[in-house]
Amino acid sequence: MEQAMIHVLLFPVPAQGHVRAMLKLADLLHASGFCVTFVNTERSHRRFLESSPPPERPRFRFRTIPDGLPDDDTWRRAAPAGLSADALTFLLFLELFESMRTRSREHYRELLVPADGGRDPDRWPPVACVLADSSVPLAFEVAEELKVPVMNVATNSACSIMAHLAIPELIKRGEIPFPEDADMDEPVRGVAGMESFLRRRDLPSSFREAKSLDDRHLQFRMTVNSNLVRGSALILNTEEHIDSLILPHIRHVCPVTYAPGPPHLLLKSMNCGGVDDTETSSANLFEVDRSCMAWLDSQPDKSVVYVSLGSITVISKETFLEFWHGLVGTGRPFLWVIRRGMVEGGMEVGEMIGDEADVDEAARQRGCFVGWAPQEEVLAHAAVGCFLTHCGWNSTLESMVAGVPMVGWPFFTDQHINSRFVSEVWKVGVDMKDLNGRSVVERMVREVMEGERAEEFRKNASEMALMVKRSSEEGGSSYTSFKNLIEHIKSLSS
Ligand code: UDP
Repeated sequence: MEQAMIHVLLFPVPAQGHVRAMLKLADLLHASGFCVTFVNTERSHRRFLESSPPPERPRFRFRTIPDGLPDDDTWRRAAPAGLSADALTFLLFLELFESMRTRSREHYRELLVPADGGRDPDRWPPVACVLADSSVPLAFEVAEELKVPVMNVATNSACSIMAHLAIPELIKRGEIPFPEDADMDEPVRGVAGMESFLRRRDLPSSFREAKSLDDRHLQFRMTVNSNLVRGSALILNTEEHIDSLILPHIRHVCPVTYAPGPPHLLLKSMNCGGVDDTETSSANLFEVDRSCMAWLDSQPDKSVVYVSLGSITVISKETFLEFWHGLVGTGRPFLWVIRRGMVEGGMEVGEMIGDEADVDEAARQRGCFVGWAPQEEVLAHAAVGCFLTHCGWNSTLESMVAGVPMVGWPFFTDQHINSRFVSEVWKVGVDMKDLNGRSVVERMVREVMEGERAEEFRKNASEMALMVKRSSEEGGSSYTSFKNLIEHIKSLSS
């Protein structure tokens, strides 16, 4: 599958879920013979090198650019008072994209055209195609100026993309912005394919936060929409069966849409030149604690609740304790990822649960905590029976690949709509959005693991996993989609 030195440049959003998804795509392209330049911000790359240094490989290089943000939290202090944690997190991303637009422009330009206009330092050919995250405006602007073809890579879910593409229709119908004191359970009309089950509370957080049509969040989403249609193709991190409801509607707007996901399965089944794990990037911005694997080995099959809220979610101590009591109440062992700084105030787990007098020692011992887990391995472990997840798209997809039923507790961006799809479309679990009392946590976990519908969730999740696996095998839809993508990129360089 060797290409005649075709050079592609990948430009992700510098955040854990995005970098990881994009690196997997980069691994696939590299294993298929392309020269790969992977752009990361200096800040994000420093963390990446500390936690999981990538292997040295010929034809694969990282290049860093500044993000332009100050090292202190000036932006946070300048934020309007009273913003919710998810609105504040989103504001940080807006600041980041804006600052990259001005302060990283020249650095990025030099990656596309070497400074002296001459030879690439590694004697690579010029970039044939930029594969850019549709959320990074800079990636498109400079490539277009220099007439380098761009393809969109969306690392968020197809259902959230569809909801965002519907913004003009939702405005026309008066669905957004929501009225004051909106009933969040009201159905939403105007998002193709989702009319029968979508409620206000299920829309991505850009819709929830928007108080007016000139809201920054909503305006940003419109920019991303315009990026989606200006690229020569859209590459989604999904596969045809998972998103059979949505893909035809997306293809109305973006006719050349590839769905070659999930990339790690594809990498295995394509066996591109006998690639093994040492030749791919694990892409962790946090240090992985593998001690939980031995703990999982000691637990009965399908008994453990795995809890992870991803790399960005922040919760209060009160929310942490409600979750903890709920999990303890299930009587099941649980493995919970608590990142440093994830709980407001920076308290340690021991400190937070130390004062909870009404829980006996045996119950406390049922919980295992780590700062960062090898998530895909954890989900594939026989002991795991349920994933309590924030429904980040990578986590949702990884759970489907592993066939593990979910309890969704979304925090922001696409997670609200993903969680609705878990319960209403894929029927592989339940949606716990906007709820967090201990009794709710206990009830939802029990519903997925032992309730009337537990067997149905397990069956649907296993069938989904099988379908996704088949699709990545030779002749399957993901496999074919990736082959077509390769041909498309090749055609741009000829
Ligand atoms: N992840 C991990 N270990 C953990 C928690 C998360 O490796 O302890 C990985 C997970 O496998 C996924 C990514 O981090 O690939 C999180 O991405 P996602 O889109 O789910 O959420 P985000 O972090 O963007 O909110």
